[in-house]
Amino acid sequence: MTALPIPNIRLNDGNLIPQFGFGVFLVDPAETERIVSEALETGYRHIDTASVYGNEEAVGRAIASSGIPREELFITTKLWNTDQEDPHGAFDASLERLGLEQVDLYLVHWPVPMHGTALGAWRGLVEIVGSGRTRSIGVSNFEVEHLEQLLGETGVVPAVNQIELHPLHQRRELVEFCREHEIAIEAWGPLSQGKSDLLEREEITVPARLRGKTPAQIVLRWHIQHGNIVFPKTTRRARMVENAAIFDFALSDAEMALIDGLDEQQNFGPDPRTFDAR
Ligand code: NAD
Repeated sequence: MTALPIPNIRLNDGNLIPQFGFGVFLVDPAETERIVSEALETGYRHIDTASVYGNEEAVGRAIASSGIPREELFITTKLWNTDQEDPHGAFDASLERLGLEQVDLYLVHWPVPMHGTALGAWRGLVEIVGSGRTRSIGVSNFEVEHLEQLLGETGVVPAVNQIELHPLHQRRELVEFCREHEIAIEAWGPLSQGKSDLLEREEITVPARLRGKTPAQIVLRWHIQHGNIVFPKTTRRARMVENAAIFDFALSDAEMALIDGLDEQQNFGPDPRTFDAR
């Protein structure tokens, strides 16, 4: 099984992360082992899961049966909102389900500011990374005010912020803040989760036709050229191959600028300021 030629990004803690990977949000736990196995066969080496996705065990089985050396894989999981007061217990349970001794990245999944528990959770993650059982730590869905509070109170800068980001929702102020603090951007919902007409917009379809690429490949390439880390989800093998075939062409500055112009500040996921899923 040959790995895809994916570039790495260096995180602010010195560790490397493959810029492109495979996400398993809403992948049925009963199907996850087969789907992740197919992604690994296709050459993916970076898998993004979370305890709340309910499929960590299946991800772990796919990893174990792949025979791929652990050091060639990059595995992310996340601390769920209801576990923010017990990050150590939740982390141990995730490792157990994944069947791993270490993950590569552990994230606080949401800030849930109405509960006031994210800072304590972050302090827990700082201890966990100190123990060596995750190589890097970061956050997800943190707005500028949540990051400012976290930096001000703990002084420990997350390696990444995983946020909803795609051409219709470009989060410029938040991205600028993260770049200033050397927090890498992971873009979730990179294709707007299939919930918009993004892939039919002419700013996407014209460069696609010109290059014999698909609209999804154009959008993913736009992310890559902006330096975003992406892990699109698909359950179809052909699309796994398609989504990864974005490292043999480049969009021009003019094409990038046209896609930049699509920002409508339109999110399809929850608002992190009010999201309180328990
Ligand atoms: P996505 O933008 O990757 O969209 C996935 C959908 O796009 C698929 O269901 C499919 O319908 C469509 N699609 C995929 N490949 C396609 C192609 N080549 N052509 C046409 N359509 C295609 O959305 P996502 O899965 O929500 O996001 C990616 C990953 O980000 C998730 O799997 C998960 O790992 C992560 N995520 C994190 C959070 C968070 O709160 N941190 C939230 C959502 C997702």
